[in-house]
Amino acid sequence: MLRISSPFGDRFHPILKDDKGKPLKKFHNGIDLIGDEKYVMLNTDKILGFSVDKDDINGNKIRVHLHGGYLLIICHLEYISKHIVEALKSTDKGVSLKKLNEPLFLGKMGTTGRSTGIHYHISIYRIKDSKYLNPDPTYKNLLTFEV
Ligand SMILES: [Zn+2]
Repeated sequence: MLRISSPFGDRFHPILKDDKGKPLKKFHNGIDLIGDEKYVMLNTDKILGFSVDKDDINGNKIRVHLHGGYLLIICHLEYISKHIVEALKSTDKGVSLKKLNEPLFLGKMGTTGRSTGIHYHISIYRIKDSKYLNPDPTYKNLLTFEV
């Protein structure tokens, strides 16, 4: 079973410190999940497209563009599914990924980027007002997880 190791909202950051050396209070724009289910699959047909990225903070990051103006964002993955990476390189820009008949493998739980341990970070972002929403429990309607 996955469980939330860090909820959405204000928290003391696990790594960053303020100028007095105390943990920095910082808004957590998603939830962190830990547990044995190391493989994450997308399980919705409300998909407009994908983008993938890697940086020092978020590590391997995948963004799923959803109908209705939302982004589903997953960070710190050990790797992103080859199927998605290859499809994004191809000329159809991942169009072939949009029609899902079964859950689509997204990637493996990891600790890339600024992270203290193996976990998923999941955010849901509303584009019209640039707002992060609490992904719990909505993420359960979009994602499934496997050991
Ligand atoms: Zn997080």
